[in-house]
Amino acid sequence: MSKSGVQIKFVCDVMLGTLAKWLRILGFDTKYSKDFEDEEILKIAEEENRVVLTRDKLLANKAKKAVYINERSLDEQIKKVLNELKINVDEGKILTRCILCNVKVEKIEKEKVKGKVPSHVFENHDEFWICPNCQRIYWAGTHWQNMEEKIKEISNNMNRRI
Ligand SMILES: [Zn+2]
Repeated sequence: MSKSGVQIKFVCDVMLGTLAKWLRILGFDTKYSKDFEDEEILKIAEEENRVVLTRDKLLANKAKKAVYINERSLDEQIKKVLNELKINVDEGKILTRCILCNVKVEKIEKEKVKGKVPSHVFENHDEFWICPNCQRIYWAGTHWQNMEEKIKEISNNMNRRI
C-alpha cells in the first residue's frame, strides 16, 4: 500500500501547527515553528528538499514544491496532503517521532521509566519510548487509542478513494 523508498518530508507554515503535529504522529518528518518567516520556510524547503504546506497561496506559488491548504478540518487537510502527493500512511511509521521535536523516538526499558510516568501507566504498560531530544516518554495509552481511531478514519477515507 505505502510507497517505499523516498520518504517525503514537509515544512509547515505558522498556521498549520495541528497539521504538523499530526503528520509527525503519522511518521512524516515535518518541520514546524510558530516563528517561521516565509523566507525561512522557503530556504528550509530548498535546502532540505521538503514540501511546503501552507495556507498562503503566494507562499505556495513561490515554493518549488508545495501543497496549498485551504481546508479547515484536520481530516480534510491530511487527506489533501496525501491525495495531492499521491502518498499513503506507512503504518509501521506511526508514532515513531516525537510530536514536539520531530526526531525519532527510541525504545526504553520499562524499569528506566519508573517514577517518570504516572504509576497507573507504569502498571498497565510494558512498552515505552523516549525522545532523545526532550526526554518525553511515550506509551501506547489513551492518547494512542484516540490517535488510532483518527488514523483509521483517515486511512478508511484513503482506501475508499483508491
Ligand atoms: Zn521530543
